[in-house]
Amino acid sequence: MGEEMIDISINKVKKSRIDSIDFDDLKFGVEFSDHMFLAEYIDGKWQNAKVMPFQDLSFSPASCIFHYGQAVFEGMKAYRTAKGEVLLFRPDKNQQRLNQSAQRMCMEEVPESLFMDGLRKLIQTDKDWVPEGEGKSLYIRPFIIADQNFLGVKASNNYKFIIITSPVANYYNGAIKVKVETEYVRAASGGVGAAKTAGNYAASLYPAKKAKEEGFDQLIWTDAKEHKYIEESGTMNLMLRIGDKLVTPTTDCGSILEGITRDSIIQLAKKWGYEIEERKVSVEEIIVALKAGKLREAFGMGTAATITPISSIYHDGKSYELSDFRDWEFANKTKAELEGIKSGLIEDTFGWTEII
Ligand SMILES: *Cc1c(COP(=O)(O)O)cnc(C)c1O
Repeated sequence: MGEEMIDISINKVKKSRIDSIDFDDLKFGVEFSDHMFLAEYIDGKWQNAKVMPFQDLSFSPASCIFHYGQAVFEGMKAYRTAKGEVLLFRPDKNQQRLNQSAQRMCMEEVPESLFMDGLRKLIQTDKDWVPEGEGKSLYIRPFIIADQNFLGVKASNNYKFIIITSPVANYYNGAIKVKVETEYVRAASGGVGAAKTAGNYAASLYPAKKAKEEGFDQLIWTDAKEHKYIEESGTMNLMLRIGDKLVTPTTDCGSILEGITRDSIIQLAKKWGYEIEERKVSVEEIIVALKAGKLREAFGMGTAATITPISSIYHDGKSYELSDFRDWEFANKTKAELEGIKSGLIEDTFGWTEII
């Protein structure tokens, strides 16, 4: 498919809000940078692409976005390198995944050039908003929403593609206590679990709230059919180290989101010569390993925190403790490597990074 170049206009704020932000006390996703990117799909084509001041938008109450949930998003970050440059990590992967999600939700895909040019122009405009310091970054939220004023149940004719950004510090701190969820499900095979679509997150809130009330930080989702195989933890992919082997649930089931962090860690593990298996991982296998003291590492993987170590796993009335994550060889080495690549201090031999 040939791609038409779409002009992007830039309308800057009169006065930046950056001085009102306390960069030493950043919360996750609370403050937004001066500008946003917006493009509209109307009359069968993407148009009106612009970088503009961050602002409220108006919608008809009849817009189908409020009724039938055609909404997909991405989560990525811009990093400040040690040299002061601004760097993106595998943005092409986010672009591709956004369109895969859009396809599943029967939405209009965003041309690669529109995504990349819009992203680059927005980050260039708000370059000063990319914080420096360990664990800090500019979180980037690209999303597509349906916007046709029509109550019939069908795919919308009109869409908006928007990118907003938010300076953040690391999402999680330290290790988390998790519970293996055996009642509720996040996603089923054949459903939309592999798409980054809004409803998946709405569906996860109630079980996550119950787990919190029971004293856990997060849950481990299991397969919808038998609750026998682990899938993800919250909104992170999972990796385990059982004995010397690394194991991560295969995404073949269609109910697991294919994380870019997960893929990057698998590539690193292979490069370093670790034995790594992508396959179904049963709860039973984990419990057996825990009892035998063979579950050496267990962690979540995602853009928000890169690696989130697990300190205990609860299942069927029992809690199992893991060793202190500060001693874990693979998790710590991987985290340091990825952070080194993102800060420009470690050479990027994979071609993952782009300087803006
Ligand atoms: C976004 C997301 C992930 C992690 O993906 P990354 O590309 O590594 O950030 C994992 N699981 C779910 C459900 C997600 O939404």
